[in-house]
Amino acid sequence: MTLRKTLTTVLLLIVTLTSYAKNPDYLVDCQQKLGNFGADPYLKISFEETYNRLYHAFKPWQAREHQISGTIWCNANDFVKSGTLQAGEKTYDAKSHLTKTELMQIGFGEQKLTGITEDRFYEATFKTARYTPVFLIDYFIQYNIPLSKESTEEFAIYEASVNDRIVTLYIYKTSKLIHKVTILEFDELYGDVLTSYTYNEYHQVENASYATIIDVEKTNGKLSEEVKILSAEIVSAAPELIKRPDVYSFVEEKEKTPEVNIVDYTERIRFIELKHTDDRVLMVEFEDFLLIAEAPLNSENGELIIAEAKKIVPNKPIKYFVFGHHHNHYTGGLRAFVHEEATILCVESNNEYVNYLATASHSLHPDKLERVPIDLKLENIETVKTITDGTLTMEIHFIGEKSAHTADYLVYYFPNEKMLFQDDLVWIKKDEEIKKAGPRQAGLYNAIKDLNLQVETVIQSWPIDSYNVKTVIPFTDIEKSMTAPE
Ligand SMILES: [Zn+2]
Repeated sequence: MTLRKTLTTVLLLIVTLTSYAKNPDYLVDCQQKLGNFGADPYLKISFEETYNRLYHAFKPWQAREHQISGTIWCNANDFVKSGTLQAGEKTYDAKSHLTKTELMQIGFGEQKLTGITEDRFYEATFKTARYTPVFLIDYFIQYNIPLSKESTEEFAIYEASVNDRIVTLYIYKTSKLIHKVTILEFDELYGDVLTSYTYNEYHQVENASYATIIDVEKTNGKLSEEVKILSAEIVSAAPELIKRPDVYSFVEEKEKTPEVNIVDYTERIRFIELKHTDDRVLMVEFEDFLLIAEAPLNSENGELIIAEAKKIVPNKPIKYFVFGHHHNHYTGGLRAFVHEEATILCVESNNEYVNYLATASHSLHPDKLERVPIDLKLENIETVKTITDGTLTMEIHFIGEKSAHTADYLVYYFPNEKMLFQDDLVWIKKDEEIKKAGPRQAGLYNAIKDLNLQVETVIQSWPIDSYNVKTVIPFTDIEKSMTAPE
């Protein structure tokens, strides 16, 4: 379903629901308490915040923390923001202007307007609640969001479901102030993810109440942040931080069509290349079963890989799924293999993470595992696991921190073929002089030497087309890179 269709459906639903329950009093009362901002004047607040971001880190759930400070001018129609990010000695500025229909944004350190999709616009609309609920509450009133049956003695609860997001307001019935706002949305790796903003220590400026401390929980509580409102005043106008372009339109959502290419490396070792994600998946056919390694980004890709594997080898079960490290290009499709009742191979330090992925709720965008839950089957690899049927042998080696990339790193060695398959450690440019190995590449070289593996060819899982790098690499190239000039 397109986003627009979803929105229309949701709005129709909201209108239908409204006829059953009309009780928007708490919303209106709350809006009064917040200062009853219409099109003018503005609540101007200055803020200081921590901002945490998950990244391709050494271990799962490691986040980078940023410090941001800035100013917001906000009423029912406008949300204007300028912010400065502190990164060591350097600072980067960003600004944005959100209205009921448009978002204009210039990101940190950028000069040009960012292309905004309709989804991003809605995300920005709801996430204004991070600083103040003034903009959002007007949205709820405008769309006649009814009082939810979930309301309690303490809280009047209002829930809106817009563009695959469920936004919930909790208003104290006594004080008519907002306790918290939650946003449930879909993440292709983590499934349903909840963000919550809890408002603390309300202060007053003229007739407006505003929270001075907002506790933020993201990704189902895995990340915590704090927003401090340092000062507030009522002003008559907001600055024009960004000039509106003459023609404004949303950027189209780019959905890549899945494109698969099968490569026979040997009769029993194949690569399932996913062109749309730029990944090479390893499929090993043993006498009685299959092993699949790597599944990028999301359950759809995992399910696609399984379908392709069954087309090639219809009569053997997928006994094992293994991923080279915890990043999303290798684990994103893991749930499809849990559903397939494959045993997931990983190092012990990843058990909690794999369990999280396998049991994460995917109600907003159900995959096969959400529809038919299957218990996770895990098997841990300590230093090496050898899988063989007598003719074909595969060794899974734990190289961990030697990869200089992640603590959990696994590589797969095929002794008869003198081939080693790994995820993303080698970065040798095509058609160029070989340069000195970076830490990851040197790490792989040293690990291969330490394990005394007789490698002639290294095959890389990601990328396969971008970055202009070799992904089928003669081991001699890696050897050369150890002594090559910078
Ligand atoms: Zn990685």
